[in-house]
Amino acid sequence: DTIGANLVRTAAVWPDREALVDVAAGRRWTYAAFDADVDRLACALLASGVAKGDRVGIWAVNRAEWVLVQYATARVGAVMVNINPAYRTHEVEFVLNQSGVRLLFASVAHKSSDYRAMVEEVRGRCRELREVVYLGDPSWEAFAARGATADRAGLAAREAELSCDDPINIQYTSGTTGFPKGATLSHHNILNNGYFVGELVKYTERDRICVPVPFYHCFGMVMANLAATSHGACLVIPAPSFEPRATLEAVQRERCTSLYGVPTMFIAELNLPDFASYDLSTLRTGIMAGSPCPVEVMKRVVAEMHMAEVAICYGMTETSPVSLQTRTDDDLEHRTATVGRVLPHLEVKIVDPATGVTRPRGEAGELCTRGYSVMLGYWDEPERTAEVIDAGRWMHTGDLAVMREDGYVEIVGRIKDMIIRGGENIYPREIEEFLYAHPKIRDVQVVGVPHEKYGEEVLACVIPHDAADPPTLEELRAFCRDRLAHYKVPSRLTILDSFPMTVSGKVRKIELRERYRD
Ligand code: ATP
Ligand code: MG
Repeated sequence: DTIGANLVRTAAVWPDREALVDVAAGRRWTYAAFDADVDRLACALLASGVAKGDRVGIWAVNRAEWVLVQYATARVGAVMVNINPAYRTHEVEFVLNQSGVRLLFASVAHKSSDYRAMVEEVRGRCRELREVVYLGDPSWEAFAARGATADRAGLAAREAELSCDDPINIQYTSGTTGFPKGATLSHHNILNNGYFVGELVKYTERDRICVPVPFYHCFGMVMANLAATSHGACLVIPAPSFEPRATLEAVQRERCTSLYGVPTMFIAELNLPDFASYDLSTLRTGIMAGSPCPVEVMKRVVAEMHMAEVAICYGMTETSPVSLQTRTDDDLEHRTATVGRVLPHLEVKIVDPATGVTRPRGEAGELCTRGYSVMLGYWDEPERTAEVIDAGRWMHTGDLAVMREDGYVEIVGRIKDMIIRGGENIYPREIEEFLYAHPKIRDVQVVGVPHEKYGEEVLACVIPHDAADPPTLEELRAFCRDRLAHYKVPSRLTILDSFPMTVSGKVRKIELRERYRD
């Protein structure tokens, strides 16, 4: 199916069930009403001259209109370009020009971000940009009104031209290892992925999914939105951006059965002083993704948030995103030490990064994925696409992983982060986990820096608990002695008060490596 056809089908089967609740705006839609509003907006896009394949940008925090734009652009075959709401003028200008956005939907303002002022500042330098519509502003009403005299025949004719292999979406990667790349994705890529992610957490039309994660990222727009609409489930938007209290209030008030988040969001919710006063007994499942979940957090999510069927997912923007996921009956060990096993209809393999030969189970290598989820390519960058998708259609993820005998996969780290010292492969994550246990260390990142004799040496970047009493290199080395192989023991140490981060909350090791290379 195309995304538009799938929504029409859901609305025909469950017209009276709730599709969408925007808690902050106090608005709600049944599937029949949601489908009708998507239709009207799709007709407005047609009336505005949006052709099949035209790029339509969205630079906005979470609100119901975001979801309407997602489905309306899909219905007319436009390519939606998701823009990170944390971006500033430099990045938004780059993205608008690189993808050739013609029409932009943007938030007016949120917290300290004045989107309208930023858009107006870069507008003159964006060659293709013709029109900007602000969500929740008179310009939105005026735009939507163009679809009031619905051109049903025009919309039907456009839908007849669409194929599920058409590009429908450009999603930019997080930029953890360099400048973000625009992954071009089709209906087939993301609709299937959303559907199967939802299948594995057993969604039905009775589920109500609380989504505090940003829609601009695949975690929101695919794993929440497409998983919900392909199962007739309801999406609940607690607030425009993450707030722990608003999230728990929405779960309680809307009787949600599923809750999403990265581990730090769950930690913030569990640490609210009045956490115990929320009735979260309707929760059954949810999804945690993006980074590894500490065991203690997982235990509390299961016991105190009632999410006995919570899933862990692994994926990347280029693969729609999810390729590995835990199952609802997995035990705590599998849910914390692994990222689950392969999704239906996808393949994964672990290869020797140098030779491409498949590694035996239990041995580390590069994780590769193949199947419907692999992107069409990086937008307008065929050379970079050829670097990651090989002739056999395998996507090389750049992540190192081990597949266990039972098929569950452990993520070891990124290849780019691996340190090679005197011919020995060193995985920073192993040393980081070991050093976390040191009483003076609050947070630590381990990177490789050039060394004359060994090629690379191990540098520990430490944020101490007490800035006045940081650990010394000698203390660290003594802590590691006899417990870590000598070549893994850091030979350099630097004390920091913070790490360079991406907007999606990942540490940019590349910056640490560059900073300390001499
Ligand atoms: P860029 O490609 O621009 O450098 P990025 O790879 O961080 O940035 P994303 O596509 O948002 O951009 O993230 C995908 C990456 O996130 C994966 O390649 C993997 O390294 C990491 N990742 C995803 N899920 C998990 C998980 N469950 N556990 C550990 N790491 C994960
Ligand atoms: Mg990446």
